[in-house]
Formats: sequence, structure tokens, C-alpha cells
Amino acid sequence: MGTKRVRFAPSPTGLLHVGNARAALLNFLYALHEGAQFFLRIDDTDAERSKPEFVDAIQRDLTWLGVVWDRIDFQSARLSQYAAAAEQLRSIGRLYPCYETPEELAFQRKSLLAQGKPPVYNRAALTLSSEARNRFERSGHVPHWRFLLHKEPVRWDDRIYGVRTFEGTYASDPVLIRADGVPVYTLASVVDDLEFGISCVIRGADHIANTAVQIQLLEALHPTYASRISWAHYPLFRMRSGEELSKRAGSMSLQSLREEGIHPLALGSFLAKLGTSETLVPSLSLADLVARFDLSKINLAEAQFDPQDLYRFNRHALSLLPFEAVEADVCRAGMNISPEFWQAIQENVASLRDIARWHEICFGDVSFPRVLQEEDPVFLKACLHCVERMPDTWADPGMWEHFVKELSQSTGRQGRPLFHSLRRILTGQETGPELRVLLSFMGNARMVTRIKG
Ligand code: GLU
Repeated sequence: MGTKRVRFAPSPTGLLHVGNARAALLNFLYALHEGAQFFLRIDDTDAERSKPEFVDAIQRDLTWLGVVWDRIDFQSARLSQYAAAAEQLRSIGRLYPCYETPEELAFQRKSLLAQGKPPVYNRAALTLSSEARNRFERSGHVPHWRFLLHKEPVRWDDRIYGVRTFEGTYASDPVLIRADGVPVYTLASVVDDLEFGISCVIRGADHIANTAVQIQLLEALHPTYASRISWAHYPLFRMRSGEELSKRAGSMSLQSLREEGIHPLALGSFLAKLGTSETLVPSLSLADLVARFDLSKINLAEAQFDPQDLYRFNRHALSLLPFEAVEADVCRAGMNISPEFWQAIQENVASLRDIARWHEICFGDVSFPRVLQEEDPVFLKACLHCVERMPDTWADPGMWEHFVKELSQSTGRQGRPLFHSLRRILTGQETGPELRVLLSFMGNARMVTRIKG
């Protein structure tokens, strides 16, 4: 059987977005669930578009999400392995040189389409005589190299889609080596999956056509290996607006979601459960996500991804998460909070950024002059008088009731006119956690300052 292994293979040409994060998570959860190894592979053969800063960002974002890898590899460091694989394919007649220019290919495609035919490459290069090839070489034409596809249908039993059959007749022989000598992803990915002993490839349904080609490549390079890999393609999310998720990659990047105060476990639960038969509720630990993980729970219908749903889900998750689950994020933001404080505010935070706001309200020097100016000066004066006479022991039982009674007597206010005004004066907010709890953190001196404005 051998060790089970999966991989997440991002291209470092931009920031990871929620679509990439879902691929990473599904593979990672599968690995934890199955006791498999999880490899991170950086697909950076495209030297022009790949950037070291994105490699760093990928690792930072995955770490934030809680995804850890057993090994990291860079395709740019494995070019000799791809060259060796190309040589092997040449030696068995499955890789052939082509000299058409991009313009010629575009023209051929257009005329085939105009005739109502599928725009499949005509394999003209296969029948070139050696003289013709020599002429091209002498005149400085550098070939690109195509993989000779077998035309029999390719079949595999997809772990999500079920049996898939791909008719090779409608596919062009894919280019595996560009004219500049760079191997393309299709080849590099297969060589790596083979050499790293990947046992299951889990990726988006946008790769289904690649899979058909890659199975043929695997069979050409290692006749028995293809049957040992299983494939699982999942339907991609669509934005509610109908656009593809990748078009919104910037605003849906992990970096921007982190900056907006999305909790990593909230994002993890959302991405692992949306589009599956699981109820869309937050999991409170990674272990719970792992225990619930099952590829067969993934729906075949495309799920709709709506950022507003994610923000609501995040609020829901924060209202449930234990202190330990937010402690690290709070520390990273430079705050030090107690479990009691978290418990007091957690139902009133929509994002991790709100923690800083309540922290400042309870322990900081903020003032709310605008709100105060709107308040009735008589009420303010009575409040001040009352607070100044109170002991600074707001956590004591009965203290709050005592204060409210005093304040009510001296101001003549009760119910909402009293509580709402007090809340606005002391917190600058219209709503929030129970005042009685907030005051135990705030203390008398801060209350007095705020009442005075
Ligand atoms: N670099 C490829 C991508 O990001 C990897 C696809 C795969 O999983 O094979 O789409």
C-alpha cells in the first residue's frame, strides 16, 4: 500500500484567495483524517510571473489558517528531473518537436472553428521529414514539444464525480516544453506526483481536462503508477453575483480577510463545509473539522460563495469560540485580555478587530465628546455625582443594582432612557455587552472622565 500522500500546489503568482485556501484545507483535512502526509509544492516554473514575496505570503497565510506541511518543494529547483522525464518521453516517441508560430496556430484554430470543427492541433509536425526539420533548425527556429496523446478514451473513478470518461479525439496534443525550454505545469506536476509518491490528488473541477492528459502522461512515464493514484475533483464555488471567484481574488485573499478580522477557524469551517452535506455551522476545533471530513459529503452542484455569509458566519463563530482559540490572535494584535473579558464581549464582536474596540472602551483613554454634547447636562451632572460616591468595586454582587437605584432616584429616569444614555456616555456605542459587566473592567476613574467629557 505504502504511505498515503497528498499535496497542495499553489503557483506563487499572487496572494492565496479563498479558492486556493479551500484546496489547501481539503487536502490537509484529508491528510489528518487518513493519517496521510501533506506536501506543499510551489509551482514556480513560470519565472516571469512567480515572485518570492508570494512564496512567503503563501507560507504565512497557510500557517495562519492552521495548515502545516510535512515537506516543501519548489518546481524551479527540479528542472533537471523534468528534462529527464522529457527525454524519456522522446525516447519512446511520445514527445515531438513542433515549429509552428503562435500566429500560424491561431490561424489554424480559427479556420477549423469556421468549418464547425473542434480546434484540435493537426499534428502536422509529426509528419515533418528530417530535411524539413533540419531546415527549421538551421534557420534558427527553436521547437516547442508536444505530447503525443493516445486517442483511446481515458477513464477514472473520481472520488467525488464518479466514473469520468474523457474522449481524447477532441483534445490537442498538449505542449509540455515551451520553445524557451521551460517545462509546463502539466509535465512538472506529473513528474512530481510520481516522484513524491502522491496517492490522491484533490483539486478543483477546472482541472478535469488536465487529469485526462496527466493520466496518459503517468502511464507513459511509469506504466503501473497511474492506477495507484486516486483523483478527487470538487466543483468550484461561484460568487453569488455569478462571477468566478478568481476574479475577486484580491478582496477574497487570505491576507485581506485576516486584516478584516476573520478568525482562521471560522474561515476553515466555512470553506470545509460550504457546498457539502454538512450543516453550515462553525466547528470549534480543527479536530472537529477532521472528524467530520469526508470527500463523499461534497455536493456536485456548485455552491455559492457570498462574502456577507462569511462575515455572518465569522460573527457566529466568535460568539462560540473559547478564549484559547482567540488568545493567539489577540496577542498578535498586541493586546492582553483575560478569559473573563473575552466572555463578556464575545457575543458583540463581528470580527477580531472589534476586540480592540472593546478593549479600548474598557481599558483605554478614549473619550466620546460628540455623544456627550448631545446629552442632557442635568442627567450628566447627576451621573457624575452618583459615580463619584460609588466604591470602585463593580464586580461585587448587588453593586450594579445599588448604582442603578441611586441613579434612577437622582435623575428620575428608568428603563431605556436611563440605560441607553448611560451606555452612550460610557461606551460611545448604541449597543454592546451588558453594562454591568463592562463597568467591572472600566472602573470609576474612567467612568468619571467619560462623564465629564
Ligand atoms: N498550480 C496548479 C494550480 O494552482 C496546481 C493544480 C494541481 O493541483 O495540480 O492550479
